[in-house]
Amino acid sequence: MKMFVLMWLACFGSASHAATVGQVLTYRKLQGHQIVRISGDSLDTFLSEALKAIPSLDILHRHSVGETRARVAPTDKEAFHSLLAHSDLEHDVEVEDLSEYLRAHDLKQQRAASARLEETCDESGCPAPLKSSYMTFEQMERYMMDLASNNPARVQLTSIGKSFEGRDIWMVHVSPDGSRISDSDSASPGSVWIEGGLHAREWISPSSTLHLLHERVTACDSQCDLDYYFVPIANPDGYEYSRTTDRMWRKNRAVTTRSDCGGVDLNRNWDYKFGVGASSDPCSETYMGPAAFSEPETRALSNAMSKVDNLKLMITFHSFGQAVLYPWGWTNEPIEDKEQLVRAGNAFADAAMRITGKSYAVENSAGGLYFASGATDDWAKKVLNAPYSFTIELRDSGMNGFILDASEIGPTAREVVAGVSALISEIRK
Ligand SMILES: [Zn+2]
Repeated sequence: MKMFVLMWLACFGSASHAATVGQVLTYRKLQGHQIVRISGDSLDTFLSEALKAIPSLDILHRHSVGETRARVAPTDKEAFHSLLAHSDLEHDVEVEDLSEYLRAHDLKQQRAASARLEETCDESGCPAPLKSSYMTFEQMERYMMDLASNNPARVQLTSIGKSFEGRDIWMVHVSPDGSRISDSDSASPGSVWIEGGLHAREWISPSSTLHLLHERVTACDSQCDLDYYFVPIANPDGYEYSRTTDRMWRKNRAVTTRSDCGGVDLNRNWDYKFGVGASSDPCSETYMGPAAFSEPETRALSNAMSKVDNLKLMITFHSFGQAVLYPWGWTNEPIEDKEQLVRAGNAFADAAMRITGKSYAVENSAGGLYFASGATDDWAKKVLNAPYSFTIELRDSGMNGFILDASEIGPTAREVVAGVSALISEIRK
């Protein structure tokens, strides 16, 4: 035993992993939660039945390819496995205890952190979005404020509203570069809206959105004649809750009619086909809320997006699954201008493949029988008539899902920058 302890110390250093209060809380919350991979032809039918029996079942990604992963709480394990046993689906438990899995992940991240580049983002300044770790909401705010004060001619930071718990929802407007601003006759050829962080646990989304914002401001090229509107962190309460208390939190932090089940899925709360593909059960991960735009976050986003002139392109970044999704999410009916949406989506996917070798599928938002209505992409397309509207699911393809290593921040950002540039070039042809 003594020898084992000595060997352990030699390998991992003298201090054991000192978990933060947030980590301890999240380990406790997720103790005994399983992640199960399921595949087979009857997946769609199975999932809709399973969700009826177990409303709190957490479907982790889309399943148009006949495979998905689900998170099951300890109280539902027996019921879920009994349903699986009576199905003809293939299934295996990928993660037996999410709490243990996270503990090991955090330890690995902590050890890797010491070997990484020194980066700063604190009271002394925040010159660039971090690549070595996922930023706190406060660090994101600091970065956006520094960016605005260092680039007063092009960058304007506005709070478009407050979250349920009173945090600011920040929008960064990047105007066309100086040469165009001085020419008052020349209007911008169009606007681009980029939304990040609508779902709390998808940390790579706000991270990639900030890196894209940084690139659009600091490496201005031929696409800088456009107006860009960035909302890098659309669900700040949920994000902070997923950092400090429950790593798998998805929704906002609204209080619902059920004291034991909080939060509304902000990507089911938009006012177009509200409720067609969403749950009315507050305990569901896809709870749509009591009414369309019931939530302060979606009201702020939709009000601000409505005011944008000549909106040509809307992208909302999510994870995971590596897919460029185009409308509709509420129906399987093909959209009229499918061809041009697919062409633009392929431009993103081809560029990502060229830059990092990662493959992104291009498909419509509704996968199989799984409809997602009341989402940003359908609303921007239908209500605002944005010619191009996409949900982009970032890394990874399922290996680690939301628990994505910080070492993937840099490569994902490069994929996003190259992909968005190629997409914009394609739609301007
Ligand atoms: Zn999402």
